Amino acid sequence: MAERAAGLVEELRARGVAGVTVVWADNNGIPRSRTVPVGSLPGVAEHGIGVSTVFSIFDTNDGIQYGAPGRETPSGDVRLVPDLDRLTSLAGQPGLAWAPGTQVTVDGSPWPWDQRSLLTSTVDALAERGYTARVGYELEFAVSLPSEDGAVVPAYRSPAYSPHALLEIDAFVTDVLRDAEANGLRIGQFHAEYGPGQVELSLGAADPVTAADEQLLARQTVLAAAARHGLRVSFAPLPSLNLAGNGWHAHTSLWRDGVNLLAGGAEGPGTTAGAGYVAGLLRDLPALAAITAPSIGSMARLRPGFFAGAYGFWGIENREAPLRYVAGSELLGLDHANVELKVSDASANPYLALSAILTSGVAGVEENLAPPAPIASDPGTWKKKERAAAGVTALPTTQADQEAALLACPRLTDLLGPERLGAFLAVRRADAAFAADRETEDVLAAWRWRY
Ligand code: GLU
Ligand code: MG
Repeated sequence: MAERAAGLVEELRARGVAGVTVVWADNNGIPRSRTVPVGSLPGVAEHGIGVSTVFSIFDTNDGIQYGAPGRETPSGDVRLVPDLDRLTSLAGQPGLAWAPGTQVTVDGSPWPWDQRSLLTSTVDALAERGYTARVGYELEFAVSLPSEDGAVVPAYRSPAYSPHALLEIDAFVTDVLRDAEANGLRIGQFHAEYGPGQVELSLGAADPVTAADEQLLARQTVLAAAARHGLRVSFAPLPSLNLAGNGWHAHTSLWRDGVNLLAGGAEGPGTTAGAGYVAGLLRDLPALAAITAPSIGSMARLRPGFFAGAYGFWGIENREAPLRYVAGSELLGLDHANVELKVSDASANPYLALSAILTSGVAGVEENLAPPAPIASDPGTWKKKERAAAGVTALPTTQADQEAALLACPRLTDLLGPERLGAFLAVRRADAAFAADRETEDVLAAWRWRY
């Protein structure tokens, strides 16, 4: 390990890199980090970097929420260990390299509050049962000119999805594409999205831990390019009530023996197992959303008719469905198929979110669940009676309802364990208390630039 790190130090120094930023994501989806001088990488790779345990109970405002089980005091230290396999010298910040980190106890054992190791162990447990998963994220964000009052001033205003729109931010777009490639990110596509100043980029599918790491690296890459062009970027789920929501849709597929269990065409998943995966996600959807779209902004984003997935149902290529089955085809191959979770955004910890998604989906496979009939329209436009008849209900839009849904889902509470669950709920409650005596727009404004 130390030898390998020493070799990396030489390489990084030759490229003019002075420091390595080691990153983790907190319970609010906010990346946190430590930067060390490049020469200390061998020591850091072996012993980690000392980090306080209180980050596990940081809320969205950087408030520290003591009182969660095992998190009563400011005492304690964990070690943040960089994953050298993911070390990337940053194209947009030439003096720095970047690596995701795992937090371990001082004796090197798994730390029960760490989220990245939960995803690693979830993936390992699936592998023991013969499953692998692929994950691809889409990231939407608002690009803004700087403003005195912190409002989003859309950096372009031309038609949605138009190449003309992007002309105004052409140099930024070029840098994002170039830096992403240099940073090893495989961008599927980039486009002007629906909202003013909103753009989207999609990341190529990868194994779950890589997908979560790359989601964090993509943020760093985009922010560095934006800073260079005097722009600001909001990854917040809803930057303002008068703007479009930023979905970070998570596309997942589950594989066994090299076969995509989701494979299928316009009729939906072609195997019982694939159908079970969809059914497992649907069964847990309100509890899942409490993890994959957990903030006040996440819930404000869930407006019917905005393609954010406000009601609990699934559909085949239905853009309004929180669970959209993305079909394969002759052109794309049936293996292209996957399930898109739309109730997913930047305020989720991506490691927790993917652990939860895979756990719920695989439970559906193993229990041979069958999903109800897919829905092709938008239940938000139906009468109440029609929704009731179809068994379609709105997803929770308050923290209390999200918490109740999560606590009622033993699969997900067991997955998190008392430590992660307790810390997660403590910060959710603190965020809700902050929001309780404020207008939603003021809460959105407070968190607009935090992700
Ligand atoms: N911006 C929408 C959201 O909040 C999604 C639009 C789309 O389907 O691309 O998730
Ligand atoms: Mg989109």
